[in-house]
Parts: sequence; structure tokens; C-alpha cells
Amino acid sequence: MAVPKRKMSKSKVRMRKRSHRVHVTGGTPCPQCGALRRSHRVCPACGYYNKRQVLTVETA
Ligand SMILES: [Zn+2]
Repeated sequence: MAVPKRKMSKSKVRMRKRSHRVHVTGGTPCPQCGALRRSHRVCPACGYYNKRQVLTVETA
């Protein structure tokens, strides 16, 4: 349902836009190295997933 722009309060607009934010924060700590990683993703720090190494991570 379209609502005229001047009828929408800043609060309402901001409340809606809050759901558009990118979820960048956190995740859970990696059981292997303790670094924060997203769940169901390979750990970017050590390359472990499901208790085994699936990626080789170069340590520079
Ligand atoms: Zn890790």
C-alpha cells in the first residue's frame, strides 16, 4: 500500500529501513581458532568447517 511521503514519519521510515541493514556483525566463535565466523560458513581465519580443514589458508 502506497503512502504519501509526507505522511510517513521519520520514525516509521527508519523502523522499516532498519530491516534493510546488512548483517555484518559477529556469528559464533570458530571452535578451531576462536575467530568469529558466520555459522554454516567455512572459517575465514583457519579454513576449518565441520571439524576438518576444507580450505588452505595462507599465513602471510
Ligand atoms: Zn577458525
